[in-house]
Amino acid sequence: VLITQQSQEELLKVLRENAKVKATGDMEQVRTIVFTIATQPLLSLAHRYQLSVEETARHLAGYFRSLGVDYVLCTKVADDLALLECQQEFVERYRDNEELTMLSSSCPGWVCYAEKTHGTFILPYIATTRSPQQIMGVLVKQFLAEKLNIPGSRIYHVTVMPCYDKKLEASRMDFYSEVNESRDVDCVITSVEVEQMLTEDERALSEHEASDLDWPWSDQPPESMVWSHEATLSGGYAEHIFKFAAKELFSEDPPSELNFKQLRNRDFREISLQKDGKPVLKFAIANGFRNIQNLVQKLKRGKGANYHFVEVMACPSGCVNGGAQVRPTTGQHVSELTQQLEELYKKLPRSQPDNALTKQIYAEFLDGAQTEKSNDLLHTSYHAVEKLSTALNIKW
Ligand code: SF4
Repeated sequence: VLITQQSQEELLKVLRENAKVKATGDMEQVRTIVFTIATQPLLSLAHRYQLSVEETARHLAGYFRSLGVDYVLCTKVADDLALLECQQEFVERYRDNEELTMLSSSCPGWVCYAEKTHGTFILPYIATTRSPQQIMGVLVKQFLAEKLNIPGSRIYHVTVMPCYDKKLEASRMDFYSEVNESRDVDCVITSVEVEQMLTEDERALSEHEASDLDWPWSDQPPESMVWSHEATLSGGYAEHIFKFAAKELFSEDPPSELNFKQLRNRDFREISLQKDGKPVLKFAIANGFRNIQNLVQKLKRGKGANYHFVEVMACPSGCVNGGAQVRPTTGQHVSELTQQLEELYKKLPRSQPDNALTKQIYAEFLDGAQTEKSNDLLHTSYHAVEKLSTALNIKW
């Protein structure tokens, strides 16, 4: 089911069928097709087609529109909300029980592994904040639907993401809406799938007419549709939440550039805030399964509690190096490509999550911050996957 629902073939089929329905003039049956492009695929495709990241976004928007897509969006607003919710969740959990390490939850590769391999033990550690993809799902199927005055069930929402695990995430029943009779994200396509679609189309990306990304959220579109955002690169959550918590909990202002200490490798780094000679905040970044396994073993031995927060990502170097990003050209090493993508990213204008639009969304759509509605729509829960033998009550 996943393979058929979450493929470019399925996407093209939906687009063809929608075009046929449009041609009949039966507008009640026509679906509004919405695309959301995450920043990491933009970096990957910019590098592949040798365009700037902004030009890549504009040519992709034009290409998708030529396929019949109605709205092409970026993930900025969902990245912002995810970061705001996660920072608040951390501070609340710390005040409640500072012994309980909080592990980030935006990487489905890590979350699925944790549910399958470490069962109920690991669940209390994982942050409940939804990933930017799933927050975007809610915004599109509910907030945008309200703005367009159409039922969410008439929207077909596609995200462009850097890995296949995002397809698994979108398929979780937690993100199925009974009201809309559909998932918040109907289909996920990856950077390599977009590359394949363009190759089959036999035209380079730059040959597709450029057009602006859509900004249906407010009357004031931002100066740039593509930003560098703390939630986007590996370590961004840890960095942002560390600064926020230092200020909120200890009235400390850490420097804007945090200096994480590398431990056993580049993908395991930590930082702490000391008060009276004691580490009152100790954060880490753990990327890649080897580092994740070490971290979980520490937690199991009761030695992980000295970390208050760990940003966990399944891919070494995080999402820029996702499994479905465009692969390096012959002779190029992955680390060289990753570095080039990070360089592209650093040149983008920078933005902060606490801004007029997020305030407006909390007020207009979520009944305010930390309300029942914001908690329902921006958070989720996890499920231990029991071993098959236990689930079927089989005794070997
Ligand atoms: Fe996907 Fe890798 Fe990013 Fe996790 S770290 S969300 S698996 S690209």
